[in-house]
Amino acid sequence: MAVPKRKHSNSRTNKRRAHHGLTAKSLTICAKCSTSIPTHVVCPTCGYYMGRVVTPIKDEMEAQS
Ligand SMILES: [Zn+2]
Repeated sequence: MAVPKRKHSNSRTNKRRAHHGLTAKSLTICAKCSTSIPTHVVCPTCGYYMGRVVTPIKDEMEAQS
């Protein structure tokens, strides 16, 4: 197996890891129920996306019938 000839410096390791930082997901507010949800995602609370029901939620279905 090939073995590295020299030790990587801390600087070189840190430079590689400069791109490892995480960024927080941006959240938006659901137009129907005002819960904060990720953007471009069906609301898990009310099942609405772009102003219409995409995924009927169980509690809501029972309330309507
Ligand atoms: Zn909602």
